[in-house]
Amino acid sequence: MKKALLGTFSLLISCAVATRGQTSADEHTQRIAWEPYQDRAVRLLQEYLRIDTSNPPGNELKAAEFFLRLFDEAGVPNTVYPYAPGRADIYAVLKGDGSQRPLVLLNHMDVVQATPSSWRVPPFSGEILDGEIYGRGSLDMKDEGLMQAMVMMIAAQQHLSLNRDLIFLATSDEEVGDTGSAWILEHHPELVRDAEYLITEGGSNLILPGQGTVYGIGVAEKVPFWIRLTAHGRGGHGSIPIADSATVRLVRALGRVVDWNQPVRLLPTVEEYFHAVARLQPEPRASQYRTIRSALDNPDFVKSLMDDENFAYLLHDTVSLTVLQGGPQTNVIPDAASAELDVRLLPGSDPEEFLRALRKVVADDQIAVEPLGRYRRPNASSTDTALYRAIEQVVHRYNALALVTPTLNSGYTECQMYRTLGLTCYGFAPIELTPQLEATEHAPNERVPVEQVRRGVRVLYEVVAELTSR
Ligand SMILES: [Zn+2]
Repeated sequence: MKKALLGTFSLLISCAVATRGQTSADEHTQRIAWEPYQDRAVRLLQEYLRIDTSNPPGNELKAAEFFLRLFDEAGVPNTVYPYAPGRADIYAVLKGDGSQRPLVLLNHMDVVQATPSSWRVPPFSGEILDGEIYGRGSLDMKDEGLMQAMVMMIAAQQHLSLNRDLIFLATSDEEVGDTGSAWILEHHPELVRDAEYLITEGGSNLILPGQGTVYGIGVAEKVPFWIRLTAHGRGGHGSIPIADSATVRLVRALGRVVDWNQPVRLLPTVEEYFHAVARLQPEPRASQYRTIRSALDNPDFVKSLMDDENFAYLLHDTVSLTVLQGGPQTNVIPDAASAELDVRLLPGSDPEEFLRALRKVVADDQIAVEPLGRYRRPNASSTDTALYRAIEQVVHRYNALALVTPTLNSGYTECQMYRTLGLTCYGFAPIELTPQLEATEHAPNERVPVEQVRRGVRVLYEVVAELTSR
């Protein structure tokens, strides 16, 4: 009886799953003729990459006008917000029935600068070589921005039924000062304030040879806490050394700083990440990752993790010595010297406490230790959401064996700014890359495989369709 009941139940459940498996979103996306959209995505990405939005100075207004033209042609209501000479944000929206709160697709239109002489093809050519589209921004993040725009246009043309507003927001200046997002949040917070979800950069899906593909969904990021050290001392002629000159004292202090070990702290997100990637590791690492919290009591294991730059940053605040400035002339002992540290704090770390500890390590009251610029408190989003589940579902539709796991970004994303409004923000990239290709971000020969762009448009659309039909 019990068995029979169970049987009935499981039958009911499987029926329910089957009907849900064939969601209206599913039927909708299967009816779409994808080829022409995928062809168009590749052509438009090439065109978009040819707009030079190197920041500084940015000149993102040209990119905003590119999106404006596309949206006007596709009947997607939009507004361009110029906020400084040559700079603008663009907002577009497809109205839903209002039963759920909006989803925002956020991207930045600026790119970091490129040195053409280090490139195989001109960095603003959008050229295709061996099935890969080259261009500054092809991974960070004009590819995703263009795919988000395609999703808006396809949704409009294919009459995707929306239970919530679908918002597109492309901003300026993410790579330098975040003035584009800051302007929106200050002058038009109503555009995004009521949204429930936001998808932007910060996800990373790596194809690991012999191990499989790991989809990292960015749910939190470390936060920059940049610091300048300035030493002062007596200057003089280089032929008469000064034992405690500014440069000498600074170098000694920096020696202590770079040898300074930060305490290990395991965040729940990072613990979840280690548990997920355990299955890709050989023993004994696999078991250690599965039991990472207790494994961290083992000093040898901690050392091996700290020696691996792919993992170390996840477990502690980091300090990179990046800028060094002393005198301009070999025979002159300068009376001042300075250095800058790129410090990245884990969510939960206290910047004031870090500063106090750093001053102790510097241990020289003639060296000023001061933060550079403003500091933003780190934040994080939960994975227990309909959007996270929609992403998992669609990823597994395309790659049944892919491992989907939350990640903590070493870099900063604008999620930090939007989470403060209460939005659940994820870094999600709809493309898969080898580590070699991913390493071209911010580097020469940045490029994205044509096939990934074609596939990515569809993946992102399906994620959006899943969420907006629930
Ligand atoms: Zn970026």
